[in-house]
Formats: sequence, C-alpha cells, structure tokens
Amino acid sequence: MISSVNPTTGTVIHTAQAATADEVAESVGRAQAAQLSWASTPLDERIALLHRFGDLVRRDGDLLADLIVAEMGKLRAEAVGEVEWTVLSAHWYAEHPPRTEQVAGATVRPTPLGVLAVITPWNVPLHTPAWKWLPALLAGNTVVWKPSELTPAVAVHAAGLLAEAGLPAGVLELVLGAGDTGRALVNDPRIGGVHFTGSTDTGRAIAQAVAGRLVPCALELGGLNPVLVFADADIEHAADCIIAAGVSINGQKCTATRRVIVHEAAADELTATLADRVKALVGGDPADPATALGPLVTAAAAGKARSLVAAAVQTGARVVAESPRVVTGGDAGDTFFPATLLADLDPADRLRSHELFAPVIAVESVSDDDAAWRLANASDYGLSAAVHTRDPERAAQAPARLRAGVINVNRRGDAVDLEAPFGGMKSSGNGLSEGGEYVYASLTRLQAAYGGWPRQR
Ligand code: NAD
Repeated sequence: MISSVNPTTGTVIHTAQAATADEVAESVGRAQAAQLSWASTPLDERIALLHRFGDLVRRDGDLLADLIVAEMGKLRAEAVGEVEWTVLSAHWYAEHPPRTEQVAGATVRPTPLGVLAVITPWNVPLHTPAWKWLPALLAGNTVVWKPSELTPAVAVHAAGLLAEAGLPAGVLELVLGAGDTGRALVNDPRIGGVHFTGSTDTGRAIAQAVAGRLVPCALELGGLNPVLVFADADIEHAADCIIAAGVSINGQKCTATRRVIVHEAAADELTATLADRVKALVGGDPADPATALGPLVTAAAAGKARSLVAAAVQTGARVVAESPRVVTGGDAGDTFFPATLLADLDPADRLRSHELFAPVIAVESVSDDDAAWRLANASDYGLSAAVHTRDPERAAQAPARLRAGVINVNRRGDAVDLEAPFGGMKSSGNGLSEGGEYVYASLTRLQAAYGGWPRQR
C-alpha cells in the first residue's frame, strides 16, 4: 500500500495498492502488445494527441497545481510554472518529432526502443515524467511509468489526461508503488530501455540491474551544485540568484545551489547579504502566495536535514543565518526545515561530498581563481554550476573550467531552457541528456537503410 500525505497539513491525499511483480509483468505485457501498432500509427495522429494532451493539461491547470502543492509541498507559483512547462513541452514536442534523414546512400531513421520503463521522482511530479514520455511516445515507444510513491495523485490524473486525449490502451501503463515496484519493472526482460530521474544511489542500482542485458539506460541524478562569486561580482545580484536557486522547491531541486565559493575579498559582504536574505524568508503554507519557503516532502526528510546540519555544527561549522521557524506538517510530523546558511564546514564534512535535499547553503572562501575553480569541481557530482563576475575573460573560461552539464554566468545556477540539453556529468548522470530534440538519442536507436526498389527488367 502507498499513500501520499500533504506535508503541510498531514491530510492523506491518495492511497493505492502497490503493484506487485506479477502486476508489473502484466503491464509490460500490455505495453509490448501495443507497441507495434502504436509505432505504425501515422505520425500526424501521434502529433495531434500530444497537442490534445497539452490542451487538457491547460484545462486542468488549477487542479493539477493544487494536487502538486498538496502532495509534495512546493510553492503554488512553482506548481503553476510546472504545469505551464508541461503544456509548453507537449506542444513543443508535437512540433519537433524525431527526424528521418538521408545520409550518403542511407535513410537514417530513429527507431523506437520498444517498451520504455520511465521511473521518476516526486519533486517535479508532472513535468519530469512528461518530459520523458511525451517524446518517447512520439518516437513510437510504449511506456510503463512508475512515478514516485509520494505523488500518486498527480500521476493518476496525468495518465487520465493521456487517455482522454485518445492514447490507446496499453500505450502508457501506469504502475504505482515504491522501490520494489521499480525494481520489478527494470528487471523485466522485455524492457527495451530505461529513462530514470532520481538519486544517484538508485540510478547506480538501476544501471547495474540492466547492464548485463545491454538495455540503454538514461540516468538524471543528484547534484551538489557550486556557485563561484569572484571579487568583482555584483554582490546584490549574486545573492539574489543564490537564494532563489537555493530555496527553489524548498531546497529540493536537483540543480539547487548548495555550495557558494567566494573570493575572500568579497566574502564578508556576500555572507552578510545572504544572511539578510535568508532571515527574510517567510515560511509556511505553500498554497499561500505570501509564503517563500514551504515544508520538506516528509518529516523523515526534515529529520535528515536536522541531523546532518547538527553533525556539521559538531565538527566546527557555523550557522550564519536561519529563516524563521514555523510549524507545518500536522499529522505528517515536523516537516519544516528552515533555510540555513552555513560557514566553516569541515573539509571532511558529509555536506561537502553528498547531496542534502534541503534548503542548506554552505559558504567557503578562497584566495585565488585557481582555488575557486578547483573547489567547484571537488565533488563527485556535476549537474549545475554558476559563476558571478564582471570580467568577460573569466566568464568565458567557466564552461571549460567547470565539469557540469549546466553552466550559468551571472544568472541563477538552476536556470535552464527546455529546448537545450539537460543532463549531468560525473555522478550526476550518464550523459544521455534530456531536453529539446537531444532526448531522442536516449529514446531511439538509429537505423541506416540502404538501397531501394528492385530494378525493373
Ligand atoms: P529516489 O532515487 O529515491 O527515487 C526515484 C524513483 O526511483 C522513485 O520512483 C522510486 O520509487 C524509484 N526507485 C527507488 N528504488 C528503486 C530501485 N531499486 N529500482 C527502481 N526504481 C527505484 O529519488 P527521489 O527521492 O524520488 O528524488 C530525489 C532525487 O532525485 C535527488 O537526488 C535529486 O537530485 C534527483 N533529481 C534529479 C533530477 C535531474 O534531472 N538530474 C531531477 C529531479 C530530481
């Protein structure tokens, strides 16, 4: 049994039986049976279906935004933005299907992988899955989707809209459940590919599960994202960007800013500015437009944040500032964790090597540029990184000096465009990017066909 619980109030939102291994196998069987006929459905019909889905998401936008806020607690404005991204992505992909090309004597065709396993997290519960299954379906795959066990109501509603848009039975199978259900799915030998977004540990387990079967597997994983602030930076602007990206989705965004690496000449001014911003964050009900910081997704997540910050303090870290505490959670327990600005982290502290999915930002100062670049790369992750400087030469160096899939210069570290590639380096992903048409590389296999009709005698 799984149930989603509103992290702000403790109200149960949705309860469902977790799919058993047998039920997962039945879903894969239905998706497999539907695949050939779906792949041969005229492209125009698949395109029209995506447009209809986009229109239906817009029609139900308020309801979907409410469900997202209720199940995982992001601010309502963020939930509305997620809905809008989903509408945009549906119409964008409908206008950008995979392309067949003539290359020398060959017709090069992106062919579907077959049945694609899509496994997704709770923090972006509508757009992250849609960003995978919309282009996957357009490319002729059928999909078995296992959303997070924390956001089943959003998933059920989204799957219902696909059916309402006219998606034939079996083309997208929804399986609800937790890790066991996901394991059963990736272990099914009929799966032709996996598209996963979630933590690095789970991504590793999935990669190992499918490696022996040579099943293509796209992994979008965690991050420990640095922002470099050089002495010549616009400090007010840098602070605005750091706070916005640090507390986005209540600090539970893969690209959220976690580490600030600042030149010592600017360290005092930046730290004081950040501290003022942190203290001004109003915590509370994410449905209230006045709220700047909502709860974490579960009391367990908030408990983990409390214990890791306490452990950091025990080994010398300093809490420079915290946002005012509020009570949220009701029967869900104490789900609120304040935005926290730390300094003087011990070099061996876990927060310098592991992702903590909470609004915690650690500041470290350096005395020269080389040390800044080095420190920014000194973690196993490589999802996003940002640089603040007024020096065009230094700014131009950023992409080459930073090992991260997303680089922002004088912008929020979590800023991305939907048409550009999105994917992590090192332990943040295996390089099969999402975003725009780049995603088709991980949803299709290229086939080169030579020759033509037999010559007439
Ligand atoms: P998670 O890894 O715990 O779970 C993700 C999904 O995998 C869930 O649906 C879960 O039920 C399923 N799962 C768990 N164990 C499994 C297994 N052994 N086999 C198959 N499926 C399994 O992650 P989460 O807590 O839901 O999400 C937070 C994480 O996601 C963070 O690490 C965050 O950085 C990452 N994330 C990454 C991106 C990105 O694009 N890089 C985007 C959003 C979130």
